[in-house]
Amino acid sequence: MKRTKVKVLLNSGQPGSEVLVKGWVRSKRDSKGVAFIALNDGSVIHNIQIVVDVANFDENALKSISTGACIAVKGLLVQSLGKGQSVEIQAREMELYGAADPETFPLQKKGHTLEFLREIAHLRPRTNTFGAVLRMRHAMSYAIHKFFNDKGFVYVHTPIITGSDAEGAGAMFRVTTLDDQKPPLNELGHVDYREDFFGKETNLTVSGQLEGELVATALTEIYTFGPTFRAENSNTTRHLAEFWMIEPEVAFNELDDNMNLAEEFLKYLISYALEHCKDDLEFLNNMYDKELIQKLHFVLEHPFQRLSYTEGVEILRNSGQKFEFKVEWGTDLQSEHERYLVEKHFQRPVILTDYPKEIKAFYMKQSADGKTVRAMDVLFPGIGEIIGGSQREENYDKLLNRVNELGIKNEDLWWYLDTRRFGTCPHAGFGLGFERLMLFVTGMNNIRDVIPFPRTPKNAEF
Ligand code: ATP
Ligand code: MN
Repeated sequence: MKRTKVKVLLNSGQPGSEVLVKGWVRSKRDSKGVAFIALNDGSVIHNIQIVVDVANFDENALKSISTGACIAVKGLLVQSLGKGQSVEIQAREMELYGAADPETFPLQKKGHTLEFLREIAHLRPRTNTFGAVLRMRHAMSYAIHKFFNDKGFVYVHTPIITGSDAEGAGAMFRVTTLDDQKPPLNELGHVDYREDFFGKETNLTVSGQLEGELVATALTEIYTFGPTFRAENSNTTRHLAEFWMIEPEVAFNELDDNMNLAEEFLKYLISYALEHCKDDLEFLNNMYDKELIQKLHFVLEHPFQRLSYTEGVEILRNSGQKFEFKVEWGTDLQSEHERYLVEKHFQRPVILTDYPKEIKAFYMKQSADGKTVRAMDVLFPGIGEIIGGSQREENYDKLLNRVNELGIKNEDLWWYLDTRRFGTCPHAGFGLGFERLMLFVTGMNNIRDVIPFPRTPKNAEF
């Protein structure tokens, strides 16, 4: 007999039919010779109820079917009399795949803190919360590919191991096969990377953008969606050492087009979640953030506020608000500043543009004022920066000047500079942090709770 998923049974199971389900026991209670088992197989947040006439089963075998156990159940699907479920299964045969000793099973009781669940990340997918988050992660990944595919973008796989350390997006993790006890040394007594696997120093990528640009200046509209790595020692609720980033890059787009694409993209993903993740959203809304669904609708219904960094700084300086970090033109905004603009001042997502060139990357398009670049950050409530992007500098001489000003070695970037020597074109793109998006759509507060196995400083156990 073929197994049916719980989701299918609950949505469209035919009462009166014989069914087979397999899953993990969420709870079991006994009442007057009848046992009620709540069974979940992760296909949906809801459990299916198994009704067991205790008299028909071996007492010891039944005992082993406790919370956390994995079982298969054959039985008759019937209309449920209890409230909260449409159908239930009257068990005829049960098979125990794996017991879970109630004395030691860590998820014996409900209501564990998220902090505790992080310590048992190997088991937390079995909770309602992580089931919901992981199903939504999947739905959002699919929606991202669908959005770009429907628009004719090409998905590009950029390398995870990079030989350039010029991206400037942060500290990197070294990739090496050299002997860590006795590495070969060069004439200066430093590690000689000419002897290393790739014949040079290599690291895990911090962004696929530079390679993305190479392909966009051939295929016009591309995106990447892959893991990125930052070795910064930042222990915040919004930073991971390993996270996933989506980076569209579009030839012939200028900054306005880039902002339009970012806004359309985020709104598409949010409406996709509202349409396709109803059950999980309702659960997360009830458990973690009573305004979650309302907030998602709110973002859909309002245009993002667009203004320049300079205007943003003015507003912050005149706000009368006391900030931990002082706001001055020319300094990077802290998340407290970003969140003031979004949550207090405009009360909607904000796109800040035209940042001082000193605080942004070398590849951003230089403006005529000589002071700013065509950058854009999308700021979201509760999160701060969710997207960072820009129009790119397409002029070879200007780009080279900036590279030299910053003391970046040309030989590391010759291939990137070449795109400006041969058939250069205006182009623009951005990076969306996937886990920051997940924070917003799930209402979770800590980025460690929206990725199955978080990588943060001093934490790579699971
Ligand atoms: P922040 O200032 O918040 O540290 P950033 O400006 O260093 O971010 P970018 O280099 O612009 O980040 O990366 C693009 C996007 O990737 C960001 O807008 C954010 O959504 C996401 N992101 C960046 N760093 C991290 C991280 N350590 N963990 C998770 N997401 C990140
Ligand atoms: Mn940024």
